[in-house]
Amino acid sequence: MELKELYQEIILDHGKNPRNFGKCKNFTNDAKGHNPLCGDRVHIFAQLDKDKKILDISFEGEGCAISLASASILTDVLKGKDFNLANIIINNFLNLIKENKPITLNSLNDDQKTTIMSLSGVKDFPMRVKCATMAWHTLSSVLQK
Ligand code: ZN
Repeated sequence: MELKELYQEIILDHGKNPRNFGKCKNFTNDAKGHNPLCGDRVHIFAQLDKDKKILDISFEGEGCAISLASASILTDVLKGKDFNLANIIINNFLNLIKENKPITLNSLNDDQKTTIMSLSGVKDFPMRVKCATMAWHTLSSVLQK
C-alpha cells in the first residue's frame, strides 16, 4: 500500500469512527474552536491534574471529515501526556502542517507518528489547513487556562 493511501485510510477511519467522542467524565478544563471558512466546530474537554498532565481528553464537534479526524487523532495521541510534552507535540504538529517539518519526537511510537503524519497532506490544500489545525489550537487554549 502506498503511503498516501495509508494516510487516507487513517483519516477516513478517524472521520467515520471518532475516538474519545463526547464529554469525558470529570473534565476540569474545556474550550471551543470554530473554523468559519468551513463551518467546523469543536469542543474539547480535558481532565488535567495539578501539573496540567492530560489524564483524560475527549471532544464533541461537527464539520468536515478532516476536522473530525484531526480532533480524534489529537485525543488519541495526547491522552496521558504531561503539560510540556503536550505543548511540544502541538507545536510539532503545527510545524508539520504549516511548514512541512517532519515529526521527530522520540516519545511517540511509530503508530502515533504515522497517525499524526496522515494529516500532512492537507498542506497542499490551503483551504483545509484550518480544518486540520482547529482542534490543536483549541487544545492549546485548554492548556493555557
Ligand atoms: Zn473543514
